[in-house]
Amino acid sequence: MSRYWSPIVKDLQPYVPGEQPKLNKLTKLNTNENPYGPSPKALAAMREVLGDGLRLYPDPNADSLRGCIAEYYQLDADQVFVGNGSDEVLAHVFHALFQHGKPLLFPDITYSFYPVYCKLYGIPCEAIPLDEDFAIQVADYTGINGGIIFPNPNAPTGRLLALADIRRLLEVNNETVVVIDEAYVDFGGESAVTLVNDYPNLLVIQTLSKSRSLAGLRVGLAVGHRELIEALERVKNSFNSYPLDRVALAGAEAAIRDEAYFRECCDRVIADREQLRSELNTRGFDVLPSAANFLFCEHRSEAAADIAAALRADGVIVRHFNQRRIDNFLRITVGTVEQNQLLLESLDRFFGA
Ligand code: PMP
Repeated sequence: MSRYWSPIVKDLQPYVPGEQPKLNKLTKLNTNENPYGPSPKALAAMREVLGDGLRLYPDPNADSLRGCIAEYYQLDADQVFVGNGSDEVLAHVFHALFQHGKPLLFPDITYSFYPVYCKLYGIPCEAIPLDEDFAIQVADYTGINGGIIFPNPNAPTGRLLALADIRRLLEVNNETVVVIDEAYVDFGGESAVTLVNDYPNLLVIQTLSKSRSLAGLRVGLAVGHRELIEALERVKNSFNSYPLDRVALAGAEAAIRDEAYFRECCDRVIADREQLRSELNTRGFDVLPSAANFLFCEHRSEAAADIAAALRADGVIVRHFNQRRIDNFLRITVGTVEQNQLLLESLDRFFGA
């Protein structure tokens, strides 16, 4: 700490990202990356950009990519915003849409970046408890608030809220912005993008990091009413006019256009998730229903911290959160069939099977 720091930074507890280990022999099931590579068409498009053209700045408005996303979702391009990963899009959302001096509502168990942005931008917040089944109850999200945000499916639980519930939430809270963070929606969720033309207070955030296997490229997006998008553009243009580089713009567009590859990867992950769920069940885990590319589970007799440590000693890393109510849970990313097998073999060694 230094006397030169501003007061907000003195108090700031930054978000702690999941471990990105330097050893590449590990079976990495801790940060919900896609186990399959990006679309070969996206890789080819990115290779094509590498050349003299990199001398030039990219398109500050990302018109081509925004047009492609608009076409994909049958929206207008001015209903689409793109940024350097959905974390950056979220940063702009908090800055542009939630600074009303009234509490922002989000679940008590959710993406742990939300309270960090609140602190950074001086936004009061209220964590609404999930019910006993770790589900969001929309009836709890009422009263005066400065906005609502949650992932759907939620993270780290993987539980999905139905579109009918989201509609109810939007109607009851029509004075405030409701942000649905759909980082994992492609693994079995129903996207709220279909509702954006019905609800001017709805903003949907997505990422290319998970279902499109491009976590390393850093591309995220928001879609909603053009007034909400304009607020994001204003903040972005006051922060970094070129958030997406030329490689990212080309790769993202090609990945979105390669629907067949995207579908194939998602279907594989979904099928393997259900297989892994039943394998974990037979090994004494209670596993929450998941519409994401991970499973959230608790063992009936062994402590999560001990299981995570034993897996790690075997070179398999999963996520364990030291957080009230979920400190006996593990969040396990669905890997390839081989990776899932290594996980199960390691568990069998731990349980002495
Ligand atoms: N939202 C949720 C719920 C997430 O789990 C993540 C990934 N940690 C993100 C947003 C951010 O993803 P990215 O910045 O890679 O787009």
